[in-house]
Amino acid sequence: MRLMLHGSRPSFRAPPVQSDSIDLVVRASRAVIGGREVAASVSVVDGRIVAIDSYDAGGAVLAGTVVELGSHEVLLPGLVDTHVHVNEPGRTEWEGFASATRAAAAGGITTIVDMPLNSIPPTVDVAALEIKRRVAADQSVVNVGFWGGAVPGNVDQLRPLHDAGVFGFKCFLLASGVDEFPPLTIPELEKALIEIASFDGLMIVHAENAEVIAEAPSAAGREYSGFLESRPRAAENRAIEQVIELSRRTGCRVHILHLSSADALPMIAAAKRDGVRVTVETCPHYLCFDAEAVPAGATQFKCCPPIREAGNRELLWQGLSDGTIDTIVTDHSPCTPDLKRFDTGDFGDAWGGIASLQVSLAAVWTEARSRGFALTDIVRWMATNTADQVGMADRGRIEIGCAADLVVFAPDEKFTVDVAQLYHRNPVTAYDRVGLSGVVRRSWIAGSESSTGQLLRRQR
Ligand SMILES: [Zn+2]
Repeated sequence: MRLMLHGSRPSFRAPPVQSDSIDLVVRASRAVIGGREVAASVSVVDGRIVAIDSYDAGGAVLAGTVVELGSHEVLLPGLVDTHVHVNEPGRTEWEGFASATRAAAAGGITTIVDMPLNSIPPTVDVAALEIKRRVAADQSVVNVGFWGGAVPGNVDQLRPLHDAGVFGFKCFLLASGVDEFPPLTIPELEKALIEIASFDGLMIVHAENAEVIAEAPSAAGREYSGFLESRPRAAENRAIEQVIELSRRTGCRVHILHLSSADALPMIAAAKRDGVRVTVETCPHYLCFDAEAVPAGATQFKCCPPIREAGNRELLWQGLSDGTIDTIVTDHSPCTPDLKRFDTGDFGDAWGGIASLQVSLAAVWTEARSRGFALTDIVRWMATNTADQVGMADRGRIEIGCAADLVVFAPDEKFTVDVAQLYHRNPVTAYDRVGLSGVVRRSWIAGSESSTGQLLRRQR
């Protein structure tokens, strides 16, 4: 069990601030600051955190608004989710910026980074990025950044996309699920990594090996075990090995998306020890569910790579605990209900992707606390480390100078997920009717509860 440091004073020293110029003060008997849980008063001016004082000091400030949190509420930095498929434009009926960002805000996520595929056009050149930005600008209620895509033949678009402010590039090593976003071969991956290394960019990889999957049994049928056999751990293990090897050779920063196979953890840990510039994420569904419990025909649980066995899940938690896995992100990847093929329940035909944007914080927290983790761990995995991965030094933490993206979380309040009540565009999620702990009571973006989000560009 980790110790909860209740009531201790933060060690931060605030610069002098004219108290009558402060827009907002949040007084919290519990706040996650500097990797600890402390009592504090957080002051905001013009959307930025300008002072972090002792809890008692905050009451004396003449602020525009003073918010006093209840004793069962905890102030967290807004979460940063670097893996979200919004799908607009082109497949807006799957999910759009209005619905996705509203769901994110309700779930304590104040910044998302949108994936380059499933929208049409995919974000594989600057013109497509500009289209996305125009579409997202007026309807996003949380901050939105964008990934670019690396596909066959667009190596010359990577630097322009980087200069235009994408946070890095996503590629697949096997069919992505949509025709307009084809995978890279290993030689093409190496070429892209050499190019991206030339401007010290970041490549994020869907790491499943196409040859291994091609030799695996078919996914067809209603039994989850059949689907699991069609996406074996060996496919992830082989692809991750290839990505690490190419990162080692090219020096390019790489990130392994949605790690499911715990077999790969020792290899990743060894690469990190060797100084290979690799980071790793996993997702709530790999940490909350297990293959043994997925009912026949329940295609809302289909995603790639797949949810694996309970023993594998516990090893992923161990990987988070020891730092081999850096981050937890949703891989929110919804579709319309018809594409989940509930009529047949056939795992081979159904779209692969799990919708979880609004419930990820509560889902991860529920499972984490049962294993002895604290809210400081949640903040590290879902806010600070995700922000750091994409160079957002001023988000994902409550620090002087950072954006005042703040969340009030009631960690002990319980609820049961009702898919019909979620803001996700389509009423499909693997979390429907699951009992969770932790409710987001309110959130601020840049110190405001009513402002829209900003479109973010890479800062470095
Ligand atoms: Zn994804």
